[in-house]
Amino acid sequence: MSESSVSVVKVIRCIVCPTGCQIKAISKGSEISFEGYTCKRGLEYAEQEYYEPKRILTTTIRVENGFLPLIPVRSNKPILKDRLRDALNEIAQAEVKAPI
Ligand code: SF4
Repeated sequence: MSESSVSVVKVIRCIVCPTGCQIKAISKGSEISFEGYTCKRGLEYAEQEYYEPKRILTTTIRVENGFLPLIPVRSNKPILKDRLRDALNEIAQAEVKAPI
């Protein structure tokens, strides 16, 4: 008889509401389950954060002929964490024209 190991592979702090539940992603053999959430929104957040984490990107962009050389910008929707570097590189090459 083989025993599958159980281990916590990631601890996620839910940021959906101010309660801030600590959710554990637990590996049981080849399956992942979640413990510590206290509502459905928390489970959805943990699954998203574990399998496909995304972030709003905030940075600055160059301004041509502007009063200031840079202005702050943010993404209009969350971007996959794996793609943040690509997005930053693209924005670093971009420039907007004043007036804005
Ligand atoms: S699991 Fe539910 S109650 Fe806990 S922080 Fe997330 S949204 Fe709030």
